[in-house]
Amino acid sequence: MSYLTKTDPQIADIIKKERLRQQNGLELIASENLVSRAVLEAMGSVMTNKYAEGYPGKRYYGGCEFHDMAENLARDRLKKLFGAQHANVQPHSGTQANMAVYFAFMKLGEGLLSMKLTQGGHLSHGSPVSFTGQFYKVSQYVLDPKTEMLDYGIVEEMARKEKPKIIVCGASAYPRTIDFAAFQEIADGVGAYCMADIAHIAGLCATGVHPTSVGVTNFTTTTTHKTLRGPRGGAIMCNTEYAQAIDKAVFPGMQGGPLMHTIAAKAVCFEEALRPSFKDYNRQIVKNAKVIAETLMDNGLRLVSGGTDNHLMLLDLTTQGITGLEAETALGRAGITVNKNTIPNETKSPFVTSGVRIGTPAVTSRGMKEAEMREIGRYIARIVKDIHDEAAIRDVHTKVYAMASTFPLYPE
Ligand code: PLP
Repeated sequence: MSYLTKTDPQIADIIKKERLRQQNGLELIASENLVSRAVLEAMGSVMTNKYAEGYPGKRYYGGCEFHDMAENLARDRLKKLFGAQHANVQPHSGTQANMAVYFAFMKLGEGLLSMKLTQGGHLSHGSPVSFTGQFYKVSQYVLDPKTEMLDYGIVEEMARKEKPKIIVCGASAYPRTIDFAAFQEIADGVGAYCMADIAHIAGLCATGVHPTSVGVTNFTTTTTHKTLRGPRGGAIMCNTEYAQAIDKAVFPGMQGGPLMHTIAAKAVCFEEALRPSFKDYNRQIVKNAKVIAETLMDNGLRLVSGGTDNHLMLLDLTTQGITGLEAETALGRAGITVNKNTIPNETKSPFVTSGVRIGTPAVTSRGMKEAEMREIGRYIARIVKDIHDEAAIRDVHTKVYAMASTFPLYPE
């Protein structure tokens, strides 16, 4: 950053501090990851200088020949990665990918059936504070109260009763396997479309570590920055029959000019995800999550649904008598970053919560494996069992710093 340091020392300093924060701590936020240097370079490139409204071969601006090449590569690689018939790589975010599907296939006031936010769903799946909750008639399914897992009977019953236009599956905080075929079957049974939002588990789906939704549900939306380990952004996949409607809904329906530097970076990410090592990486994410989960439970802590099948787990802090916010703060002071999260049957506000969400994509990207996960599980247990033990926070912080320094963010 030698140029930026000279021209804007203030922002350069902020970026340096953020890099140090990432380097010195353990990032366990389940929705975050660490992109490659190649992805960073593509994002910070001259591709950001250009307007390219439209699609490859059909742009509203001249000079797009290289942008066409980049977007075609991104689309082709994404299709190959998931075996999709059609891909749109322009959504600026996961929310905008979802928005485009709704805009393409649902009129104002029509029915959307999705998972409740406090049970693991996402804001863009119909929360009252999102446009989705205000533009559509939303009904939401809950988890089986005993197992805290999806109960397809509950979903089917609601689908029959509510007759939605679109059924959404996929979640932000669900630690178990999702049966996408069961959701599509339920949708078919009531004449609805089925949209799988695989934002969190896209990398797992691409590599067969979790069953994929592509080719199973009518539409698949995703973010590109979570387990897929690419730049912040969104994408949509579907069969050819829906391609035109989806493309029109993204542009000009929802967005203007595509972020071409991000699309170039998405292409880089998809190429990286096509390498055999990406499968090993995603397998390791899940192995790592299982080790943290077992360690927490061995230390007497309770996980929602009793464990994990994917990259994340939800720690229920009710019996510790502390809130998610308190745990997030104490862990943060020890160099461990997690986020407070609602748990099924939450009684507290989303700013306080009774749980924390813990995920392994970022620490796995740093090369950490089972041995480190066991340590991390012990650190978390030690802190949440007594968040007022200042000596423990200091001791864990020292150990976290030492562990983090042996796993550089970007090894030379
Ligand atoms: N869908 C799911 C399941 C998510 O978890 C998220 C973000 O966490 C999104 C959509 C939204 O993605 P974005 O923040 O890029 O809008």
